Amino acid sequence: MVTKESKNNKQWLKDKQRPFTCDVAENFISVTDIKQYIYCPRIVYFDRVLHAKQIFGSQQNDSKKLHEQYITKEHNRKDAIHYSHELVNAEKYMYTTLCSNKYELQGNIDCIIKTTKNEYIPVDYKNMKSNKGKTHIQHKYQLVGYALLIEDNYNTIVKQAFIEYIPEKIVIQFEITPTMKTFVKRIIGHIKQIIQEEELPPIRTAEHKCRGGCGHKQICQQ
Ligand code: SF4
Repeated sequence: MVTKESKNNKQWLKDKQRPFTCDVAENFISVTDIKQYIYCPRIVYFDRVLHAKQIFGSQQNDSKKLHEQYITKEHNRKDAIHYSHELVNAEKYMYTTLCSNKYELQGNIDCIIKTTKNEYIPVDYKNMKSNKGKTHIQHKYQLVGYALLIEDNYNTIVKQAFIEYIPEKIVIQFEITPTMKTFVKRIIGHIKQIIQEEELPPIRTAEHKCRGGCGHKQICQQ
């Protein structure tokens, strides 16, 4: 349950991060679009062309609320950067909104770690299980999208990221390579094409992904 206090906390987090926020341009694509595209390109069409309302079960709505609570909790945790000894004394910025004019991209990043060696590392918290101890591929490329935003905003090179799968209490670190960044830049181009040409992508998604998690099952398979 989201209490009034936790809502206030979240607002406080946003206020706290104001120096890093930006005015989000409506025509920018979001890092969430990249994640959705990798899961299934048709989601982008339903979200960004039809602006269809996603229909989720109560379990998914609860999960969203728990995710917000976790960000607040992580922010409040003293010395919360517990992923590696190398990160001791690093700074962290919670719930940061970044935009990139270069990529026409925007996103809300759960946490950005800035190490004592000035390395920037994006972190994402997932209130779901991992892919049998590995990251889900759409999550991995979501973090690559964040890497592009961080690089463009902080004039740096992002080399790694973390995803924490909260229910399993596991944190997965992975490398972000130039090839992964090139792949995401290509995806950004495909997403823009879907939006500009209002083109419904064909169904190429495995059946098990179409059980309702995308939020568009009804409209897609009418
Ligand atoms: S129902 Fe399946 S094909 Fe349709 S948008 Fe959802 S995931 Fe994609």
